[in-house]
Amino acid sequence: MDFFRRKILPLLRGRYLLVSGGRDALSTDLIWVSLILIVLSWILTFCRAFIASYVLYALSLAAIFFSAFRMLSRNIGKRESENRWYLFHKNRLIRFFSEARERFRNRKVYRYVACPQCRKRLRLPRGKGALTVTCPECGKKFDAKT
Ligand SMILES: [Zn+2]
Repeated sequence: MDFFRRKILPLLRGRYLLVSGGRDALSTDLIWVSLILIVLSWILTFCRAFIASYVLYALSLAAIFFSAFRMLSRNIGKRESENRWYLFHKNRLIRFFSEARERFRNRKVYRYVACPQCRKRLRLPRGKGALTVTCPECGKKFDAKT
């Protein structure tokens, strides 16, 4: 512990790892991705797909190096904006898949249509025949089969 405080801590001072308190989602997820890629690369080696295995291994190393580079970086603002960009797109992707799962689950009860004007996705009850729908977002009226 004393060794850590005297030798390691001064090296980390002012670097992104300490400033972010080690809670940077992009760096953490990069480590997970690289672990998954390593395992896939091993599996491919057992399947004798050596070229694909090397490619995954190289990608895994790239992910680890990028993660380490980010943690040791002194350019805090740049790393924070990367992390914000990453979280924004990750959340959008998660929302997209959870909404798709929701639509699939309710496919027998609801029909989902996109407003022709603003593209807002609307949920209509199934089996009500042809309906005239008013979009709650932009007020556009359009016909939809249910
Ligand atoms: Zn609309």
